[in-house]
Amino acid sequence: MTIRVRFAPSPTGYLHIGNARTALFNYLWASRMKGEMILRIEDTDFERSRKEYEDAVYEDLKWLGIKWNEGPDSGGKYGPYRQSERLDIYKEKVDSLLREGRAYYCFCQQDELEKRREEALKTGKPPRYDNRCRSLSQKEIDDRRARGIKPSVRFKIREGELRLTDLIRGEVVFDLSLIGDFIILRPDETPTFHLAVCVDDGLMKVTHVLRGEDHLSNTPRHILLLEAMGFRPPQYAHLSLIMGPGGSPLSKRLGARSIREYRTLGYMPEALVNYLSLLGWSPGDDREIFTPDGLERVFSIERVIKSSAIFDKDKLNWVAGQHLRRLTGEEYLARAKDFLKSDGDFLSVFKGRGDKWIDRALLLFKDSIVCFSELKVKFAFFDEAAVIEDKGILENAETRALLAEALNFLEAEKAFNEGTFAALIDSLKKKTTLKGKALYHPLRLAFTAKNEGPELVSLFPLLGRDLCIKRLKEILRK
Ligand code: GLU
Repeated sequence: MTIRVRFAPSPTGYLHIGNARTALFNYLWASRMKGEMILRIEDTDFERSRKEYEDAVYEDLKWLGIKWNEGPDSGGKYGPYRQSERLDIYKEKVDSLLREGRAYYCFCQQDELEKRREEALKTGKPPRYDNRCRSLSQKEIDDRRARGIKPSVRFKIREGELRLTDLIRGEVVFDLSLIGDFIILRPDETPTFHLAVCVDDGLMKVTHVLRGEDHLSNTPRHILLLEAMGFRPPQYAHLSLIMGPGGSPLSKRLGARSIREYRTLGYMPEALVNYLSLLGWSPGDDREIFTPDGLERVFSIERVIKSSAIFDKDKLNWVAGQHLRRLTGEEYLARAKDFLKSDGDFLSVFKGRGDKWIDRALLLFKDSIVCFSELKVKFAFFDEAAVIEDKGILENAETRALLAEALNFLEAEKAFNEGTFAALIDSLKKKTTLKGKALYHPLRLAFTAKNEGPELVSLFPLLGRDLCIKRLKEILRK
């Protein structure tokens, strides 16, 4: 049997960490099992769905390296793959269910339903629909229609319980008496999410549904509906939710950014994919760094955990750093430049600099950044207008004397090359009694305006003679 999975986003916003992980797990598993992946756009919420978000889904998935075999853009034999283009198909299925007595018209109005729900809650009953329109006679139906009331269509839930073996959670039992008959077609004849998902999973021959745990409570409805339509329900695997540290809901502050935001920050896609893969899955040993190909070889649903995954920004950054360190210098430069290219303002710091300088300056930060946008901050080292972080340190007499010596040396030393820094340090050690931090820190602060940064010996030649002299003079003038 060929495994068929689907990723079914609703284009009502940008792809976030949670759906990206769902897409990734589907993709990895389909790849590992040599199966097929479907991309289905669930855009039946006409008010909130936007073409712009749909386009962003394609773009973001492609950027992550997630591929699909069938989808709205690539076609396939079970299309169309955009739900808004399948309305006739849904309507037809509803007609059959009505004919077979598996569904019925419901004329209850929103305000009545709300009132009954509140009453049920007050009296401790399950706040489900009370199935009252199930028993309407044909005459009652005709009367209501004659009064111009547009019905919705509800699906009849059977009695008893439903057992399901979830591939991640094991056996889950649902008490069907807690679930009321639910709407599958709205009064305006548009399908609800439940109907569209089931019709599509059935017709598209989906064999496995890997989706977020937030859909677990929908699954008994889906199984019953699929069966009623004559489909064999797929197997389900519900992925635990992603939480913030300590089990709090994942907020933006804790890292719940969209994939797009991470991309704009210059995270590398393979790093993000690696980190997403660890949100609920592990290889069973202590390996944590994987290339996308490596993941495709080892990913399995059996190793997806039941408990919630914790999104940890620091861990993401660690993983991202590991991927950056693994790049060769050449690869790193190509990717850094490609990222920086999109920022015209930033590029002005490169003006008048030769290619060699640019490469050396970029390489200086290869081991300390986690995403390429950090380079913009790092390049403040070369910003002539940078404000000294900790002026106080440079104010005592001893330090001023040191800086004055440094200035003398640099002004006298016309050549400025790789050896200049070592010569400067030698000379300062002879002329002052300072050494270690007392020597290097004021120099770092004076030359770079910052308390910390890459090795001064590497940074110094890139800062250049003029900038170093200029900064020393400014400090000493005061
Ligand atoms: N469109 C649904 C969502 O974005 C997914 C439904 C499903 O996976 O069954 O949550």
